[in-house]
Amino acid sequence: MTAQLELDLWETREIAEQLPTLPGKVEGIVGWDPMVLQCRDCGVTYKGTRRPATDIILSGFHFHVCEGRDGKRRCPDCLAAVKAACPRGHS
Ligand SMILES: [Zn+2]
Ligand SMILES: [Zn+2]
Repeated sequence: MTAQLELDLWETREIAEQLPTLPGKVEGIVGWDPMVLQCRDCGVTYKGTRRPATDIILSGFHFHVCEGRDGKRRCPDCLAAVKAACPRGHS
């Protein structure tokens, strides 16, 4: 990896501020009414427009099955990257 690329990645992470999970909510739920989910890798957020339970499913912001609920909530892009690298071959 070149130094310039490393710098770009670092700057991207700086912008994506990680918000705290709401008390009593599942990891990565950072807003309620409207519900907001946050990717713990890249920091991108998803704001719900329906009932929270429906939004959580439809958002694609999920946990990788190998990590379970102790893992990180990730956006579809980051989740795909983790699955692609998973030694157990999830896809
Ligand atoms: Zn992400
Ligand atoms: Zn896996």
